[in-house]
Order: sequence, then structure tokens, then C-alpha cells
Amino acid sequence: MIGIVVVSHSHALATAAVGLAAEMVAADNRPVIAVAAGLDEKTFGTDAVAVSEAIAAADSADGVLVLVDLGSAVLSAELALEFVDPEVAARARLTSAPLVEGLVAAVVTASTGASLDAVAAEAERGLLGKQEHLGSGPTPEPAAAVESGQGIEVVVSNKHGLHARPAARLVGLVNGYDARVTVTNLDTGHGPVDAGSLSMVATLNAIRGNLLRFAADGPEADEALAAINDLATENFGDDEPARFPARLGAPVEGDNGGSGLDVAFGPAVLAGDPVDISRYVAGDNESARLAAAVETVADELRRLRDASPDLGGIFEAQLALLTDPQQLKEIREVLDRGASAVNVWQLVFDRLAERFEALHDAYQRERAQDVRAVRDRVLRHLTGTTEDSPIQVETEQPAILVVPELDAATAATLDGRRFAGVAIRAAGTTGHGVIVGRSRGIPLITGIGDVAVPAGAVIAFDARKGSFEIEPDVARVRATIAEREAEQERAAAEAQLPATTIDGRTVAVLVNIGTVQDALSVRGADGSGLVRTELLFGERRTAPTVAEQVEAFRAIAAALPGKPITIRTWDVGGDKPLPFLPLDEEANPFLGERGLRAFRRRPELLRDQLEAVRQIAAEMPVHVMFPMVTTADEVAWALDELGPRPDGLKVGIMIEVPAAALRVATLTADLDFVSIGTNDLTQYVTATDRTNPAVAALADGLDPAVLQLVDHVVRNAGVPVGVCGDLASNPQAAVILAALGVHELSAIAPQVPLVKARLREADLRLIDTAAVLAARDGDQVRALL
Ligand code: PEP
Ligand code: MG
Repeated sequence: MIGIVVVSHSHALATAAVGLAAEMVAADNRPVIAVAAGLDEKTFGTDAVAVSEAIAAADSADGVLVLVDLGSAVLSAELALEFVDPEVAARARLTSAPLVEGLVAAVVTASTGASLDAVAAEAERGLLGKQEHLGSGPTPEPAAAVESGQGIEVVVSNKHGLHARPAARLVGLVNGYDARVTVTNLDTGHGPVDAGSLSMVATLNAIRGNLLRFAADGPEADEALAAINDLATENFGDDEPARFPARLGAPVEGDNGGSGLDVAFGPAVLAGDPVDISRYVAGDNESARLAAAVETVADELRRLRDASPDLGGIFEAQLALLTDPQQLKEIREVLDRGASAVNVWQLVFDRLAERFEALHDAYQRERAQDVRAVRDRVLRHLTGTTEDSPIQVETEQPAILVVPELDAATAATLDGRRFAGVAIRAAGTTGHGVIVGRSRGIPLITGIGDVAVPAGAVIAFDARKGSFEIEPDVARVRATIAEREAEQERAAAEAQLPATTIDGRTVAVLVNIGTVQDALSVRGADGSGLVRTELLFGERRTAPTVAEQVEAFRAIAAALPGKPITIRTWDVGGDKPLPFLPLDEEANPFLGERGLRAFRRRPELLRDQLEAVRQIAAEMPVHVMFPMVTTADEVAWALDELGPRPDGLKVGIMIEVPAAALRVATLTADLDFVSIGTNDLTQYVTATDRTNPAVAALADGLDPAVLQLVDHVVRNAGVPVGVCGDLASNPQAAVILAALGVHELSAIAPQVPLVKARLREADLRLIDTAAVLAARDGDQVRALL
């Protein structure tokens, strides 16, 4: 491997540039880089003798490349060649490459074992990427395209695109194969360029979401393409943890979720509550105390990682936060000046959590929870307070988990054998954590607020009545549970009966599906009114193929034989990122490129999904619907993408945007049905972000403003109207929706029999819908029932 010398007037400049370049390649693969810079660490200047020593130090049989900064640096380097052994001088090359860009390109290329000529050429092209981006300088020559026809297409999913480090990994990998590989950015039209050249890859300006095409020929073309594909699925080596909802569909083995009741009791297990650090007394050696706590926590996290492969990524990410060397070094420096370990640790991690919370990306914001989890684990060890992690907890009787908020990942994996329920301090029922938890039948109550809950105290809640008690009368709670179980059993026994009201209206009650398990566990559903495809495939880092999608839809349909299933096309965006469809960061993602909107600029994934829908529609009754529709133009575009409809395929849209609700009559000319997504409709009508617990109390699906829009849609749609938002899972609300004339309700699996039972008991003639619509707020609507 060739060696590299950096000659600069400034020691600080040279060492910083070397630090930056060294970052690009693994330590065990780095060329020797010697620095001859400054007359000393502080004084600017260059010294020919120092340069000659650096050249001798970096010399290798393959040669040495010398990069220089300004004016006299060139002279000193030339002079230095006079001082070194003539053999060394003969294989040393001075280059006019730009210092920073050239050094980065040189280090990356040298690390692949390239020759001195190749490294020098790469270094000299170091400015190309910047020139191309800014439209200045010469236009790079495209590489002759590889014609062999072997190629792959990959999406750049790294947050910052193919920036220097991932590009360096790509180049290093490509150069390790006996193949010629070119890459083209299909979104910008740049390329093809040589994928083994860092400066050429830089000209692609490949940002997140761009589609790249790699083509290869040569003896190892297949291997090279396969390796590139793997690298791309690993975000080109960028360390982004698996995205939500990576853990959906992977609950603990043997765990069937929860009881499906809305009442529960058990000892409280607190998670996420602040650790009391007020009694901590700082000692003489806070650094050592902290180091011991960090080590213990690191052991714990490693054990958790190894014990739970499904969750491994989370604990790995927490370990990285815990053991960040730079952060630990800074903390140690402050501790050595006499600060208290708990104060410093808390401060540093609070700041870090705030930084995560300020990010635009919903997924990244959620990572603040990991930061707080790491903060609290260490604080608990420092203060000697123990709180079992919810995943580890073992209590004699099933416990109630008390949390400030419920994230979807915890909801998806909570062990229903160990937890009787979850009490959530924040209000709101339409966050995806709550939706996932309830779909699994986990009893939940939201909005318990700041009430002080002693760890281990027996607590009980009844979500139907909105009651939450500490040290309740357990006999009474058991009696309520027995009543609800009996009610549930009755409903389950009659689940197959139609939901025909006393006044003779039959309402179809279907099930919402996020995992195949939802379809397997439901009883009495008349089909599925919503298959959330983005949850079904949310753990995938690459887009599922048409065949994979057909297979998943077939599995769902097989669990609901002969009944229609309603496949919703990818509803990406807002709080639902899809790893294989990275979206741009937006200031207001719920108001941006969500749902159908996200595909107007890149319809490929939607086309694949529609192909899967057409294929499955040939086998069984299938409906398809498009989310987040606003205009008639969007409907026309979606129908155009769908193309000719196979017989029996019913096509609809979701009504989630107030504008779509108000002008529904103009949207439905070519549709078979509409389905109201009350979760989003409520968020948009009441201007309350569904992920923000601070405003969750305002996001009431029974707000008369929402119900007025439902009423308007029923009267004006001209096609059957369904509701598949959270409201349809609430038996009380289901009766109102039926009274307003909604034809079809789609509820979470555990609620289907209960919704049907409640409808069978209802006489819709007795519901004063005019009073409901004229009510002042959701509470008044509830009181009217
Ligand atoms: C809705 O918005 O009501 C809906 C059903 O869609 P999601 O909750 O998946 O956004
Ligand atoms: Mg929605």
C-alpha cells in the first residue's frame, strides 16, 4: 500500500485534515500518513528537513504521495526530495491535488491497494464532486457504461445520502473485486461513473431516496453486485438503527397478547419515570463510580441484546449511546474537576435527549426515549435505586406497566403473560403505540396524568369508565373483570352473528390488520376493512417484491376465508417511516408528502403494490384503497396507476383530509367506496398532532366537528361509506357512526365481537343524531348516549 505525506503551513490544519480523511476507512486498512506541518505546533511555516523525514517515514515499496498546501510548501517538498535516499525520491510523487479533498480521495483509494498512479489520479480529481454540484469547473467524463446487462438498483436510504464515508465504503468494496462497476443516479441522470472512484461517485450527488443503478462486468461481476446490494441494505455502513416498527409482528414467543379487556389490576412497574437523585452524595472519586456504573449497565445491555435477538438492535443502539468514547471523556474531565456523577450524567443525557427531540424526523425523535432509558439505567445504578426494565420484570402476578407514553415497539413486544395492562400518563388513543397495544388485546388506559404511583403498589384501572385507582378494593375489581369476561365470552360466542340492530339495520363489522396475527386471532369479522401494509412490511429494509406481497395478502385472506380484505396502499410519512422508502425531512411531516402524495414523484413502489393487488384480486375478493387523498386529480392519478381493474376488485379512497370530506361528491365518480380514517381526520379537523401527548385531549374522535364531517360524507359520497379509524373500535362510538348512516366499521381484532354485540343491542331510531351533531363537545356527545 502506498504511503501519504501531508505538507502544510499549519500543524493544526494538517492534523485535522488527516483526522477527517482517516475517518473514511477502517483503522486496519489505513495507509501510513505522515505529517510535516508548521515549524512547531503553533508556528506557521514549512521545513524541508521535516518533510524529508515524513517522506522517509511514509515510504513503501509501492511509493509515496505528497500533498501540499500553499506556496512555499511546494518548494519545501521539492527540496525534501533532494534530502532523501534517491530510491525513495524516485518512488515519491508530489501532487497538485487540493489538500482536503485530495487527501480524502487519496486515503480511500490507497486503502483499496491501488497503485501510486491511480491514487494520484483520484486525488487530483478531488474537486470534481464539488464542481459538479455547484455547476463550476469541467464536466466529468461519464464512464463507458457497462453493457453486460447485469445490474441492480438500490435506493439510498442513509439520512445524509451517499456522503463521504458511505461513498468511501462503496469504493473500497468495489475495488476489492475483479470487476468493472459503474453507477448511475437514476433520479438525477448523473452517470454512469466508475463506482471504484471516490471523486466520480461524489459527482453523483446521491441524496437520500435517490435510486442508483449499478452495472458490472468482469470475472467477479456477480459477486461485486451482490456485495453492493448487501452494503446498500446496510445503509452503506452508516449506523442507523432499524426503524420503527422493526419489532412489530415479533412478540415474545408463546405470548398471545393481552386479555382484550378494558379493565386490569396488578402491581405497578414504573418505567420512564425520573430517577430520584436528590439523596445522592458525591464522593472523592466520582469518575471511578461512574465508570463502574457504566460498566455494569453495559453488561446488562449486552445480556439483554444477546437474550432477545428481536430487540437486539435497540440494545445495541443503547450500548453505543452509553459507551460513546468522546462523551465519556468529556464527562470524565468535568468529574475530575470535582462535579457529582449523577448531576453531570443527567445533564449530558438530558441535553442529548433534547437534541433528538428537536429533530424533524419522527423516528429520530423517538430515539430520545433510548437516550432517557440509558440515562436512567446509569442513574439508578449510581443512586442504588432499582427498577426492573419492563422487559426483564418478574413479579408473582401480572403487573401493570406505568409509562409516560407508549411507543409502538414496546406495545408490539410487551409480554402479555407478565403484564396485565398498561397505564399511560399521556392522553390520546390514536398514537400508533396505543393502536398496536390495543390490537394485541393489551388492556390500556390513557391520560392518567401525573398521579404519584408507588412502585410495586397494586393499581387498577377501568378504561371504559375512565377510572384509575391505587390500592383498590381488589374483590370489586375482580368482580368487574369477571363481568367483562362474561360479556366478552357472550360476544365471542355470538361473534359470527351479523351485527343487526334492533331496528333492523345490518352493519358490516370488519377487522383492521397490521400483522397476519391480527387476521388469525379475530373472531366474527366480516372481512378486513383496513390492511395497514406499511405495518405489515414495516420491518423490511428493502421493498418487498410483488410475489412477497401477494403471499402476505394470501395469508391474510386465508385467515378470513371468502371475506373481502381491503388493502390500503403504502401509507408512509408522518409518524410512519418505511426504511425502503426514505422521504425528505419536512418541517410538518403530517402536512407533507404522506400517503398517496409520497408516490407522485416516485410511483415505482406503488406500481409494484398495485400489481400485487391485481394478482391477488384474481384469486379472492379484494378491495384496494388509497390513503391521504385530497383532490380529484389525485384520485384520477391513482386510478390511472392502477390501470384496468380486474373483475371484482373494488376501489376506494380514505377520507382523512377535511377537504376530501367536504368535497367527497367530486371524488367518488369512479370509486366503489370510501373509508373514513377518523384518526387522521380528527388530527386535521382539530389541529392536534396525533403523536403529541400535550394536545391529545383535544384530539377527540367524538368531537361533533368530526362527526359533522362523517355525516356530510355519508350524505354526499354516493357510494358506501366505511370507518376504519380508532372510533370504529369503540362500541359506543360505533353505535353513533351506524346511526349517522355509516355502512361498514373496521375495528381492531379484540373489539370486533364487542362492537357487533353492542350494535345488536342498539335501536338506532332512539339516537338523536341532530343533538349529537349540535353538541358542544365530545363529552356532551358521550353524555347523550
Ligand atoms: C386513520 O387515519 O384513521 C387510519 C385508519 O389510518 P392510520 O391510523 O393508519 O393513519
Ligand atoms: Mg390515517
